[in-house]
Amino acid sequence: MRDVKRASSPRSAPMEMSPTSFREVGHELVDRIADLLAAMPAGPVTPGEMPADVRRALGQSSLPKDGRDANALLRETADLLAQHSLFNGHPRFLGFITSSAAPIGALADLLAASVNPNLGGWLLSPMASEIEAQSIRWIAELIGYPSDCGGILVSGGNVANFVGFWAARRAKGGDLVRTDGAAAVAGLRVYASSATHTWLEKIADLSGLGTRAIHSIPVDPSERLDAGALRSAIEEDLGRGLQPFMVVGSAGTVSTGAIDPLADIASICREFDLWFHIDGAYGAPAAAMDNPPADLRSIREADSVAVDPHKWLYAPLEAGAVLVRDNAVLRDTFSYHPPYYPDKVPDDESGVMYYELGPQNSRGFRALKVWLGLKQVGREGYRQMITEDVRLARVLFDEAQSNPELEAVTHNLSITTFRYVPEGLPPSDAADEDYLNDLNRRLLVALQQGGEVFLSNAVLDDRYLLRACVVNFRTSEEDIRAIPEIVVRVGRGLR
Ligand SMILES: *Cc1c(COP(=O)(O)O)cnc(C)c1O
Repeated sequence: MRDVKRASSPRSAPMEMSPTSFREVGHELVDRIADLLAAMPAGPVTPGEMPADVRRALGQSSLPKDGRDANALLRETADLLAQHSLFNGHPRFLGFITSSAAPIGALADLLAASVNPNLGGWLLSPMASEIEAQSIRWIAELIGYPSDCGGILVSGGNVANFVGFWAARRAKGGDLVRTDGAAAVAGLRVYASSATHTWLEKIADLSGLGTRAIHSIPVDPSERLDAGALRSAIEEDLGRGLQPFMVVGSAGTVSTGAIDPLADIASICREFDLWFHIDGAYGAPAAAMDNPPADLRSIREADSVAVDPHKWLYAPLEAGAVLVRDNAVLRDTFSYHPPYYPDKVPDDESGVMYYELGPQNSRGFRALKVWLGLKQVGREGYRQMITEDVRLARVLFDEAQSNPELEAVTHNLSITTFRYVPEGLPPSDAADEDYLNDLNRRLLVALQQGGEVFLSNAVLDDRYLLRACVVNFRTSEEDIRAIPEIVVRVGRGLR
């Protein structure tokens, strides 16, 4: 450490806090957060308020002219959030794919923001950039991907998948796409199952390819991409003079957690020289289990993989990650150094420049919460938590199956779908199906506002289903076993 002396004549800016007052205010805030976490499991998942209630609580004043004391402000703000928030850290929050946040991640964010490195360039973030690079390698190790891959942390699964898409387009579409736009390479086609998350439509549109560039492949009854149909689609498009460039496989679909036949997709991609991208935003960390679904072993064959640390690695929002087998492709996608021009100094001498590997320029230190999570519990901790989440989803499926008023529909990874079917109503003819869809839709709204348990929904073969996704290290077996009674009770009330 260099010893730099500086004459002290501190300016007193309105925003500054003295170390003494920071310590005081910070300690009190940490105490309040600890109280909030302690009280959370006994309270409702959500107060279930309407927007008007929340706006009223916030107040609608105009921009304050003068400032206020930080301690009072944080006290009031902590109360405001404690009283008017949905808590995805609650043991009975099982909605969407949103995890409980690791407490160490909250502390990491405080530390990260306090040092405030800018991870656009190595010079501005020496240790932080190295921590991000190590996090990328560790995530790769965790999911069985080559750890000498390139990669970058981004805001979430959508952007992680966008980066995979852009890399594919760059690698397979060539320089012309960069200089003349997508239209210059006519007929680019991307293949993905009909159960793929909507990020693909968004990026096909926003990248100028248009959503018709997506060739949607049917799924089998278990929601997995039909590999035979994929091959036929590629052959048919080639016959029409189109240019297939990319196939997306899901390692855990957003709706039901289905895993595409990734090994088959990998071999089709090799055969036709296509970029193989895996959307593992939700499910890729399941590869860390002792006996993961066989197809997760093919993660290692992908050209790029999206993983969401803010889902099954329990990092607080926001943290997405994309891993790209060949770091040079990632750099070539985002950097304006021509590819034939060797880097002046390689990464291991100059440090990685993240502005060259992704869409952002200035970048925050989201790596710290991911890295500290990986260090706090290690591979073994994640293996244990993920395995338990999967087991609990299975328990819910079995509970639903043995309950005469519930119909269990799917269980994959840690997602279970089921629905309420009142007694004396054979779920057979179409009128009954319409009735059941409407009933379950209303049931979900009532559950989501009731605060006892938070579920979301899936639609499968035109059936509206309740859906629980356990990416929650706080959920216990008791929480899971309580769900059927709650659902049936609220369901009966709606009949
Ligand atoms: C959640 C999810 C996404 C989107 O990720 P965000 O972090 O919400 O942006 C994409 N694909 C799959 C399979 C997902 O589960």
